[in-house]
Amino acid sequence: MPATYIPARGCLGAGAAGLVAARELQREGHSVVVYEKGDQVGGTWVYTPEVELDLLGADPNRATVHSSVYKSLRINFPREMMGFQHYPFVSQKDGSGDPRRFPGHDEALFYLQNFAKEFHINELVRFHTEVLNVNMLENNKWKVKSRKQDGVIVAEEEEIFDAVVVCNGHYTEPLVAEIPGISSWPGKQIHSHNYRVPKPFQDQIVILIGNKASGFDIKREIAKVAEEVHVADRSVADDTYEKQAEYDNMWHHSMIERANEDRTVVFRNGKVISADVIIHCTDYKYYFPFLADVIKDGIVTVDDNRIHPLYKHIPQKALPFPLSEYQSRWIAGVLSNRIELPSEEEMMEDIKAFYSELEASGKPKRHTHYMSDSFYEYMDFLAAQCGFPGMEKWRKEMEYATMKNVIARPGRYRDEWDDDHLIEEAHKDFIKYIS
Ligand code: FAD
Repeated sequence: MPATYIPARGCLGAGAAGLVAARELQREGHSVVVYEKGDQVGGTWVYTPEVELDLLGADPNRATVHSSVYKSLRINFPREMMGFQHYPFVSQKDGSGDPRRFPGHDEALFYLQNFAKEFHINELVRFHTEVLNVNMLENNKWKVKSRKQDGVIVAEEEEIFDAVVVCNGHYTEPLVAEIPGISSWPGKQIHSHNYRVPKPFQDQIVILIGNKASGFDIKREIAKVAEEVHVADRSVADDTYEKQAEYDNMWHHSMIERANEDRTVVFRNGKVISADVIIHCTDYKYYFPFLADVIKDGIVTVDDNRIHPLYKHIPQKALPFPLSEYQSRWIAGVLSNRIELPSEEEMMEDIKAFYSELEASGKPKRHTHYMSDSFYEYMDFLAAQCGFPGMEKWRKEMEYATMKNVIARPGRYRDEWDDDHLIEEAHKDFIKYIS
């Protein structure tokens, strides 16, 4: 199959990151092609009740469902903070949609659909088109092999691009905790990627591993129908055993020590629970099946969630929409030579120095791209490189206020808060972008 040269940048994925990348590349004067294997824009935010057959997602070759969003999901940052800087996530003027400050997932999808419409991104997207392979050529160009499946008609194509921006999302490949005995534990196991509604857990004794964003929501929802919920949290001391405030059927434990063939699960705090189900709310793996050739050739490695070499990497545990927006502006500037990159040697030195810092601070390799501590510093770096002011002061303060509120009102933080003055400041700022 002869490959066609396209004098354009290829974007892989039409979720929040791919859409804003396309927008920023276009703004910078680049031509753009966006590949999207699904039938609409929005990525993660395209909710589906469908789940995978393999509830733990152990087989990388299984048929996947892309989204991990559950039916009741409401966003976990205030909408003012979550939206792109140059396209605020405000409620509809006519009161339609979900006007809440922490709306449900449909509203986030609607916001992204409007963004794509407003900036004519839909016209750049090739729907139903999956990227199968991306390979580097000797002239530093990139060959993209894709397959378009429209009903029964399947067409494969090879095209050559000057650059490829990878925006395939990283919440589809489950990461499951390693627990001695778990493979022969006879109960049901499921990763939160395949959780949609609480009904299947009615009257069950549930062990839920992980207490971060999804675990935090799912445990509360399940406690309304389950007989008991036991939360295993590896971030707490080994002797932790606490009744969860406001619930008479939920307990907080330290991590699991082992699982036994008689259905019992032993926690590090010594408690033994005979359970029906284990729900793993234990994060995700980076997964790039379309990079198999460059990985085989050692150009890129993905080891324990560290992608190498990746200059100024792809942070996690951050504010995803503004982050993608800043990174996209930076990439667009780099690709038009408006922003100059250091030499290859200097970039490799920068990456190595970063790894050394991580090691010295005792952070595990799998947290390489976690940036909760240095996120704003990183955003300010990108803004300075791009030549625009960094994150707004109110956005930083709002994050702090929200974190405080989550601790003070864990089950109610989406409906009650004390930072109305920051909402007011945000809206004063938004006037610049809303006509
Ligand atoms: P995605 O949205 O996953 O989009 C990737 C796109 O790439 C998809 O459309 C997919 O079909 C496509 N694709 C993948 N592989 C290929 C291929 N080979 N060929 C062609 N197309 C491909 N963020 C927030 O800001 N606030 C929240 O409240 C929040 N809650 C979340 C709750 C859950 C349960 C999860 C899982 C995530 C949440 N996030 C939240 C994070 C969210 O994922 C990001 O905000 C953001 O939507 C990620 O966008 P993305 O474009 O990187 O990836």
